[in-house]
Amino acid sequence: MFSRGTQNKVYLFLGAFLLTLKLDSSYKPIGIIDSVDAFSMVWKGKAVMVERYDSYLKSGNDVWDEPAVIVLHRYIDFPFFRVGCTRREIFKRDKYVCQYCHYPFSGGKLTLDHVIPKSRGGQKSWENLVTCCIKCNQKKGDRLLREIGMHLWRRPIKPRYRLIDWLGPSIPGIWKPYLSGVYTK
Ligand SMILES: [Zn+2]
Repeated sequence: MFSRGTQNKVYLFLGAFLLTLKLDSSYKPIGIIDSVDAFSMVWKGKAVMVERYDSYLKSGNDVWDEPAVIVLHRYIDFPFFRVGCTRREIFKRDKYVCQYCHYPFSGGKLTLDHVIPKSRGGQKSWENLVTCCIKCNQKKGDRLLREIGMHLWRRPIKPRYRLIDWLGPSIPGIWKPYLSGVYTK
């Protein structure tokens, strides 16, 4: 059982651990884990700690540095930080703007449109799903764009974000050098 503290005090409640950035042996970011799990990997010899927080992990009378960034000894070939083709991510890509009438809406007033309708064999993919307002969606129905004379504002493609932006503004500053130049997959 671990607790967590700083130089001056120990937080006796659990579940207050910081997050640790996990890198593979090429220093490529591959995940974000709880600092206790990160500590455990370092302890077992599976990783080394390259950055630490200004805080510590405590268990009984033992005290250890709380890891901020760890590096595995292994190289891992896998597309980490993959942006899923979900409703939320499609809205975000299209900036909550209907891709037919080009008006912005709140999430509750938007839906997803299959450019090539499902009934015509259209897939659930980045290239075939767009943000659409209820009105345009009803107007389009199960038809192809050329059948109804509607046009897409822009061609839908899979988005690519700088990882540092995608993870959001609350990431620890100590991670930033390890995230620069890295994009989502
Ligand atoms: Zn619309």
